[in-house]
Amino acid sequence: MSEAKSEAKTRKEQLFMQTKHAAMRIDDAQQAESDAFAKDYMQFLNTSKTEREAARNAAALLEEAGFRLFTPGMALHAGDKVYVNNRGKAIIAAVIGTAPIEEGVRLCAAHIDSPRLDLKQNPLYEDHELALFKTHYYGGIKKYQWTTIPLSLHGVVVLAGGTKVEVQIGEDAGDPIFCVTDLLPHLAPQQMKRPAGELIRGEELNLLVGSMPFNKDEESEQVKLHILHILHEKYGINEADFLSAELEAVPAFPVRELGFDRSMIAGYGHDDRVCAYPALRAILDCQSPTHTAVTILTDKEETGSDGNTGLCSSYLAYFLEDLADAFGAKGRHVMHHSQCLSADVNAAFDPTFPDVMELKNCAYLNHGVCVTKYTGARGKSGTSDASAEFVGTIRKLLDDQNVVWQTGELGKVDAGGGGTVAAYIANLDIDTIDVGVPVLSMHAPMEVVAKLDVYMTYRAFCAFIAS
Ligand code: MN
Ligand code: MN
Repeated sequence: MSEAKSEAKTRKEQLFMQTKHAAMRIDDAQQAESDAFAKDYMQFLNTSKTEREAARNAAALLEEAGFRLFTPGMALHAGDKVYVNNRGKAIIAAVIGTAPIEEGVRLCAAHIDSPRLDLKQNPLYEDHELALFKTHYYGGIKKYQWTTIPLSLHGVVVLAGGTKVEVQIGEDAGDPIFCVTDLLPHLAPQQMKRPAGELIRGEELNLLVGSMPFNKDEESEQVKLHILHILHEKYGINEADFLSAELEAVPAFPVRELGFDRSMIAGYGHDDRVCAYPALRAILDCQSPTHTAVTILTDKEETGSDGNTGLCSSYLAYFLEDLADAFGAKGRHVMHHSQCLSADVNAAFDPTFPDVMELKNCAYLNHGVCVTKYTGARGKSGTSDASAEFVGTIRKLLDDQNVVWQTGELGKVDAGGGGTVAAYIANLDIDTIDVGVPVLSMHAPMEVVAKLDVYMTYRAFCAFIAS
């Protein structure tokens, strides 16, 4: 015998906003798809620890799927698949739609750079018979988190003669790793009195790379010499070649499933490859869209998007103009009618640190892709603030396609805050809104996401591209 619902309960169901764990809102087939998607993502993440590696892997997947390198002036037709590789650090891919280009494109944007330790231009030194590299951290990190964890080195060195050498050490099981050391607690009473932001200072992020002399000769700096000898043998590198290098120290451990239920993924670089991979997969899986679909995987977001591979530069606008030219249209008319999902991670509610969140307006793990109308700090500063009309469009789209989504701001008002590339895209006269995956421990060497949220982000991109 079922109890009759009270009038209030019925009205509540009609009027209150409903939120639920994504697992309660999907069927077994979707759960299986989500698990499969997580496997693919984990594989991508393991081999894409830098923007260069992510761009290279993305380009390879695009080539495999029939995308051709775009050259300005080439003839384009509906169904054509093209891409641009911006200096090996950023990718734009497009599938030409059946609708006139003047009706605008559907743009998915994410970034493929992540916080890390970059080597300085003149990094190598010996101090008391230990060899170390000086670093300059990239992006916003809690410096103390980067000590005493295994680090690998990735990047390129351009030799004096102009030859470019690729370096990757520390990822294979047999490789050596590197680390930043920290003080033993026994001798740290003074260090522990420092404010947390200075627990480890920028100039203390020195990477330990060796301790053995080159030979038994009575010479100074034998350990440094030994390191240079090894690097020269393996890569042909002299000390001066570091001047023209980009070497990045990143966590050396692989990404892993997290939890007894394996519902989460722990690893380095979710921010923002956890949005970049779904955006890439969405355009790889896209066949003959109505509106031209464009995915951009950009660089330099973590340092403010400046530079010619960051979204403050004109490379996206130039590409859209070239696309417009191919159809005899004006770039700015295309942009005016375009829509963009600017995909970047958001802070997930952490029960251990509830104070920084406003519980009605924050993202929760497993509640789906997070749609954020505005970002910014100190009175929405630096945000593009999507219009109610555009939020309404996206809301309806996601609901119609049964994409599990939520909304969330990055923390309480004035608790801190942050921005994304959304504003730079919106500044091109494109309707733009932030979407993304909620993350725990954002910018730490090991970040955590929920598989279902990653999958729902992919589904959101697919729905958007098909709209
Ligand atoms: Mn990000
Ligand atoms: Mn970030």
